[in-house]
Amino acid sequence: MDKAHDGKALRIAVLGAGMSGLATVAKLKQAGYTKIDLFEKSEGVGGTWRDNSYPGCGCDVPSHLYSYSFDLNPDWDYKWSLQPQILRYFEDFADKFGVRQHCHFHSEITDCRYDDKTHTWTLTQKDGSTHTADVVVSGLGQLNIPSIPEFRGRDRFEGPSFHSARWDHSVDLTGKTVCVIGNGPSAVQFVPEIQKRVAKLINFQRSPAWCRPRGQRRYNDADKQAFAKQPWRMNWYRWRIRAFADFGFTAFLQGENGMSKSLKDMCLKHLEAQVKDPDLRAKLTPDFEPGCKRILISDDYYPALAKPNVELLRQGVKEITPTGVIGEDGIERHCDVIIYATGFQSTEFLTPMHVYGRAGVSLNEVWKDGAEAYKGIAVSGFPNFFLLYGPNTNLGHNSIILMVEHQLGYVLQAIDRITAKDVAALDVKPEAMKAYNERLQADLGKTVWAGDCASWYKTESGKVTNNWSGRTTEYAVIMREFDPADWQSIPAA
Ligand code: NAP
Repeated sequence: MDKAHDGKALRIAVLGAGMSGLATVAKLKQAGYTKIDLFEKSEGVGGTWRDNSYPGCGCDVPSHLYSYSFDLNPDWDYKWSLQPQILRYFEDFADKFGVRQHCHFHSEITDCRYDDKTHTWTLTQKDGSTHTADVVVSGLGQLNIPSIPEFRGRDRFEGPSFHSARWDHSVDLTGKTVCVIGNGPSAVQFVPEIQKRVAKLINFQRSPAWCRPRGQRRYNDADKQAFAKQPWRMNWYRWRIRAFADFGFTAFLQGENGMSKSLKDMCLKHLEAQVKDPDLRAKLTPDFEPGCKRILISDDYYPALAKPNVELLRQGVKEITPTGVIGEDGIERHCDVIIYATGFQSTEFLTPMHVYGRAGVSLNEVWKDGAEAYKGIAVSGFPNFFLLYGPNTNLGHNSIILMVEHQLGYVLQAIDRITAKDVAALDVKPEAMKAYNERLQADLGKTVWAGDCASWYKTESGKVTNNWSGRTTEYAVIMREFDPADWQSIPAA
């Protein structure tokens, strides 16, 4: 059944074939929509799990929770799955839910423009071709554009260099001297893997981060059969992981409380147990509260740093030379390869795409002081344009897939309203968006994310643009029901 929209079937454009985009297409199909076009810049589905293929790449959220509630998987090999199996899960999902037939691969959208007269969006691709849609749902996420700082001399380096999210598998690191810049969740996963084969590894760590034990668990055949035969076990297990993680949210509130103290104690004990050298331990001890930056989860990062072929530097980078890296101490360390584990352009949502809403207003302009949205999914002045994993929907303590499913539930309710004969478009009211963000920023001010550290959760000026302010259950409550009073219905001409 096609949904009617102004006498036509509603044309829905979905951006990105990652975790959000795939679920959007599956849910839209289930709801009866048929004119769905998904635009993906790469050659396949999987998003971040396709982009990131570095050695040791995995998820730091347990897989029974880092999966869709409507497509539970009894066959996870590990509690914390590795990238190849996660990518396979999303690829299988795309097949199972018939998503691929809606996909346009190698199709990067560079520009989305709203037409006030026709209430439609024109999407322009990199090759100049255009597509018209009534509704746009962006599943571009927060971590899709790698960030490499503009270090002086970066282009002069004569050896291979690459970003962790664009791993160059043609470069053999065996026996090489390798400089790794950064020590975030990505570096922590690949450093122990490459340390075993390089001659020397030099890790530039501008500021250390807190790290807690991972405690990997392998599921055996009996576990998998039990999950498959009795799905309630998976649901129960998933519910427990979610509830436990939400219970621990208190640790991310400013000021010491029982939970934050136990988190800090756990991290300190982990460091003490794994690093015996007091100098190295001092270099690895952060000077901010746990959680301000994302907490690292690893059992093998510290032991790898303690190996004799590793030099850990607690300093930033001053310059890159043709043959190495000069640190803030002014000393050049020669190396054969540089790996940038320097994160993503996380606060520049939708970059490098340009979005123009009512009266041609640019979203970049609206967001010049930091991105914000109503409930993370809509921006006033940009009708029928919905965001998934948008501003202030990231978490430091639980699974982002939960958040995206809540967003999708709300967006589907909005899209259903757009199918009504007298509604051409829905635009969130500016006052509703303002009130929502004032409350949100006040709540975020009480969390460690607003604390005294630099992180990808906030802009340089300190505005927290990426994280949600509470538990996933609190977000679920505000996303359950569409709020008609907060939206302006633009009538059909
Ligand atoms: P990140 O957490 O943003 O870390 C970037 C690192 O690069 C930091 O150590 C940072 O130092 C350093 N850096 C940035 N600019 C620098 C500069 N100019 N000079 C020197 N050092 C610089 O990036 P990430 O490790 O790629 O992780 C990003 C996010 O991706 C994670 O938080 C997580 O959400 C996601 N991720 C998830 C998984 C998973 O298991 N689910 C795995 C990998 C990544 P400072 O700390 O001093 O700024």
